[in-house]
Amino acid sequence: MKLYNLKDNNEQVSFAQAVKQGLGKQQGLFFPQDLPAFSASEIDELLKLDFVTRSSRILSAFIGDEIPAEQLQARIKDAFAFPAPVSKVEDDVATLELYHGPTLAFKDFGGRFMAQALAQVAGGAPVTILTATSGDTGAAVAHAFYGVDNVQVVILYPEGKISPLQEKLFCTLGKNIHTVAIKDDFDACQALVKHAFDDEELKKALYLNSANSINISRLLAQICYYFEAVAQIPAEKRDQLVISVPSGNFGDLTAGLLAKSMGLPVKRFIAATNVNDTVPRYLEDGKWTPHQTVATLSNAMDVSQPNNWPRIEELFRRKGWSLDELGHGVVNDEVTRETVRELDKKGYLSEPHAAVAYRVLRDQLQDGEYGLFLGTAHPAKFKESVEAILNKQIPLPKELAERADLPLLSHFLPSDFAQLREFLMKLAPKQ
Ligand SMILES: *Cc1c(COP(=O)(O)O)cnc(C)c1O
Repeated sequence: MKLYNLKDNNEQVSFAQAVKQGLGKQQGLFFPQDLPAFSASEIDELLKLDFVTRSSRILSAFIGDEIPAEQLQARIKDAFAFPAPVSKVEDDVATLELYHGPTLAFKDFGGRFMAQALAQVAGGAPVTILTATSGDTGAAVAHAFYGVDNVQVVILYPEGKISPLQEKLFCTLGKNIHTVAIKDDFDACQALVKHAFDDEELKKALYLNSANSINISRLLAQICYYFEAVAQIPAEKRDQLVISVPSGNFGDLTAGLLAKSMGLPVKRFIAATNVNDTVPRYLEDGKWTPHQTVATLSNAMDVSQPNNWPRIEELFRRKGWSLDELGHGVVNDEVTRETVRELDKKGYLSEPHAAVAYRVLRDQLQDGEYGLFLGTAHPAKFKESVEAILNKQIPLPKELAERADLPLLSHFLPSDFAQLREFLMKLAPKQ
């Protein structure tokens, strides 16, 4: 597989390099040189396969001979060890539940495949994974790498801006997992990570790798569950399918659009955001004007400078698609609350992120279309807000219950690169 840097097309790397490096020069994102596609009959055949077998065909089409097919399949089997069921919500609307993994959010798919991909290509060499999280990536990556030899994981998150249970899930692990609460918002955490990648000395000392959605292995993994969704919906609805994606850093939507570019029948995608609406505003007026990030109920989407957007633009350019075809909508906290209640009345226990996606989908779905919204996290992960909205108790699944009373092991730092650098340098393995 060949990938190029979106900021400097002359920088070209293999899949292995892209996985190890995360980002290219000038913090550029890597993008696939070849965009594999399947014919309609190949898609029909793929949709008949089981999740793991199908996913290895899909990823193989990108990765090629860099990972032998049987090895790739074994890695995917380990990574995707839990289902992604489609659940009916209304006659014309269903949800793809992506929260049945160990950390109860869709980030488990990408985080766990990335751990497999890195194990495959790094062959046990020391590596430090540095990532910023708006809540769920951190947990997925921490659990995927917990206790793995020669891998250190450093996770930055905005202090006080993720849910208490999200925090418990990954900040109580210890061992090779280091968590740092930054006194600022997610965009500031993301900026610190990018800054670290620009620091050659630090990069070398720590064997730095980025695990957020900028790592190509995570994005590729996420393509697979869009196929899994289509495989589960009624066949006669396939060409009327509209998918609404609750978006923050826009990795999930990028993966969905890549699935469509491979030939997966999806009539239209909708980018649903909370009031951190840089992209919906951009799609309206063509101006990229990020505002200060605002804290909302759907905190994993509190991102005003979405990292993956350049990949979406590149994909549209390469495919000759128009951004006018991309649906979009913005949902504030008040409407999010009403929507969580509305879904509960329909018998579906939801949470703020999925509710944002459902709201925009319901409002924009046309007669004859079939809507799917992504259920990106388990409602219990947002227990405090969901219980307050619904005025009832929701039970904790065991993954959360077993960590809820453990002490937090996080370090606390201001949003200051010099102090972060000093902290990181102490973790450097002896050369
Ligand atoms: C990360 C996350 C999102 C946003 O996904 P992006 O790929 O960053 O757009 C939405 N919902 C939940 C629950 C998340 O954890």
